[in-house]
Amino acid sequence: MKIFPIFLPFAACKRRCVFCDEFLLTGRRNIPDTSEVIDTLGAFRSSYRSDEKYQVAFYGGSFLSLEPYVMKQYIEAVLCNLPESELEGIRFSTTPDSVTEKTVNFLSDYPVSLVELGVQSFDEGVLTLAGRPHSARDIYKAADLLRSAEIDFGIHLMTGLPGSSLEKELLAANEAVSVGASQCRLNPTLVFRGTGLEGMLREGLYKARSIEEAIDSLWRMYVVLEGSGIKVIRMGLCLNGDGDLDDLVAGPYHPAIGDLVLSRVAFEMLFLLCSRSKNKAVVLPVTQQQRSFFTGHKKMVERLLGGEGIRVEFQIVDESVLDISRLLGDLCVCASGGEVNEAFLNPPERFQELRSSHEAQCCCRNHVSSRP
Ligand code: SF4
Repeated sequence: MKIFPIFLPFAACKRRCVFCDEFLLTGRRNIPDTSEVIDTLGAFRSSYRSDEKYQVAFYGGSFLSLEPYVMKQYIEAVLCNLPESELEGIRFSTTPDSVTEKTVNFLSDYPVSLVELGVQSFDEGVLTLAGRPHSARDIYKAADLLRSAEIDFGIHLMTGLPGSSLEKELLAANEAVSVGASQCRLNPTLVFRGTGLEGMLREGLYKARSIEEAIDSLWRMYVVLEGSGIKVIRMGLCLNGDGDLDDLVAGPYHPAIGDLVLSRVAFEMLFLLCSRSKNKAVVLPVTQQQRSFFTGHKKMVERLLGGEGIRVEFQIVDESVLDISRLLGDLCVCASGGEVNEAFLNPPERFQELRSSHEAQCCCRNHVSSRP
C-alpha cells in the first residue's frame, strides 16, 4: 500500500527526547503550512501511476498535541484536495500522552487508518532517561482509548536507549502484543550530533550498542511480535547519503539492518529444525522465495550454520511445505504472559564469532573520539 508522507518535524513536541533529531531525519527545518501540504499532495498525486488506493501520513512530532484547529486544517487539506475514491485513510505519529478522550473524539469525524504511537519503551526509568514526554501508564491509557474507539494503532519501539536492557526490550515487545498494537517499528538507538544523547555519550553516561548487540535484541523482538501476529513494518532508520551519516556520532547503523535481523531469524529457525531432527545435514524443501529468506543477507545464514557445523541443502518446490509462521511461533517462547525465557535473554556462545566478524565491525560506527 502506498503512503504519501508529510513531515512535521518536532511539531508540538513538549520537550526534546535525548535521541531525537527530526530536522536531520526529515531533511526539513520547518513545519509546512497547509498551502505547502496541498502543493506536496498535488506533486505526489501527479507522479503516482497506479490504481491502488493510498494513505497520507503525517510523520514527526506529536500530531494529536497540535492545537485542534491546526490538526483540522491539515486533515481538511488532505480531504479537500484528494479524491475520496483514491484515499484509503490518514495516519499520523503521536505521543501516548496526546491520546485523550478529547482527541480520540476529535478523530471520530475523520477517516483515520492508523495512529502510530511513539512509545520507545515500556520501562519508566528508560522513558525518564530518554526525556520522553509520557509515562508507561500513558501508553496503556492511550492503547485502551484507541482500542475502545476501534482505531487501529501501531507502536514504535527502540533498543539500546539509556538504562535499557535486552530484558526490558523483550518485555516491551510482549507489552506491544498485549496492548493490541497491529504493527510495530523497531529502531536501534543511534547517537546524532547535537542531541542530548551525544552529551551523555561524551560524559560517559551512555554507551552506544554495537551492531551485534542491536541484532541480539532486534531478532528476539521481531520473533515475539511477528510470532504473535504483529507486523514489523520497519527495522532501523533510513539515513540519506553522506550528509546524515556525517551527523551520526555513534551507534549500530547499517543500511540493511532489517535484512541482518531477518537473516538471524532464518538462522535460528534452521538451527531449531536441525536440533529437532538431531541432524547436522538437512535437505529442506523450499520455494524460491523461501530460499532467499533462508540464504540471508550476503549468505549470512550459510556462514552462521557453517560455524555450527550444519549443512543445509535446498530442494526447490513449487508449493510451500514449510510452515514459516509455525516456525516463528515455535521460536516465540516468551510472547504470552510476559514470561521471558532464559534462552532468549542469554545469547548463545556461537554468536561470539559473529561479534568479531569483519562485516559487523565495519558497519558499527563509533566516531566520537575522533571528533571535536
Ligand atoms: S516526541 Fe517524538 S518528535 Fe518529539 S522530540 Fe521526542 S521523539 Fe522527537
